[in-house]
Amino acid sequence: MGKDKKILLYRIDEQAKSVIFVVTEDNESVWGKISEDAYSIVSFDDVFRDITEFRNNFLDYEQLTDELIGAINGRGAVFREILERFDDNSLNSFNFFTRYYSDTLRDVFTEARADIDKAGAFFNTRALKKSTEYVNEVFNHIREVMRDDWNFDFNSESDMKAFRLSFDKIIIRGNDRNDIYTVADIALVNFFYDFSFAIHKMKLYVCSCKYCGKVFLGKKNAVCCDGEKCQDTYQNELKNAKRRERDNGTYQKYNTRLSNYIGQQKPKLSAKVNDDSAVLDRFDKERKIYTQILKDKIEEYQAENRLPDDEMEEFYTQLRKKFARFWNGLAVEWEKEHKGEL
Ligand SMILES: [Zn+2]
Repeated sequence: MGKDKKILLYRIDEQAKSVIFVVTEDNESVWGKISEDAYSIVSFDDVFRDITEFRNNFLDYEQLTDELIGAINGRGAVFREILERFDDNSLNSFNFFTRYYSDTLRDVFTEARADIDKAGAFFNTRALKKSTEYVNEVFNHIREVMRDDWNFDFNSESDMKAFRLSFDKIIIRGNDRNDIYTVADIALVNFFYDFSFAIHKMKLYVCSCKYCGKVFLGKKNAVCCDGEKCQDTYQNELKNAKRRERDNGTYQKYNTRLSNYIGQQKPKLSAKVNDDSAVLDRFDKERKIYTQILKDKIEEYQAENRLPDDEMEEFYTQLRKKFARFWNGLAVEWEKEHKGEL
């Protein structure tokens, strides 16, 4: 008996926003002791970016696959040369899906070729048909998930479709763990639909990071990806914005103080003055002027990102004194004009 068939298991960890992939053998006895390096933990964002990258280069894959299908019962050297290109693809890439599909398609083709060879050769059209049909089916499924605009968007009004895929769950439990994995079909159709649905359920959207420009899956209107550097910058900006807000409060304090001060001056004069509408008009006019002077000063400070300091305090004190002088002067003037009326 030959080696057990390789299978890919996956588990979507919504809480950690990552997917755990395990390449293992189709043999129950090995699942309890899967080695560390069989695991690949891929974050949601990386899954999304990898798929996007793979999709963008998909034409090359189609070409390579078409060539292989054409060469499957041709000369061995040609067939092997194309297989090598699958190897190059998988070796030269850090993209999980590029590696997976390259390795998988390579295996699928090698197996098909072996079947054809075993079946007594190139003229056995039944064996050839069976093998190429299988290869085509796998590849058509890959094509389906790569081209499906439904992925990541369960709100899109695409045509209703139904798939029948056979897959299983594998449960690994014991020693404080209870991991339920799904066995992926070769083309990963079930994985992509599970993944898309998880994204949909978690209400994640395709966002673009304003710092590094990368796309990521985040809450609606999110602006920053999970990258450490981007997060640092973002947190800093948030802090600064909060500080600015607080600073605004600090400046606001001066506006409040002035408006309270001016408000308190009015009742200090006799009731008669306060009944004179000409006096009240001048009071209001001056109040507006002083408020504007203070506002200009505050804007000057804000423009320079300058926090309120002694100079500001002094400026405010002088402004207040000036207003007091104006008001007292007005009162004296009024009393002079209305001498004898009082
Ligand atoms: Zn970023």
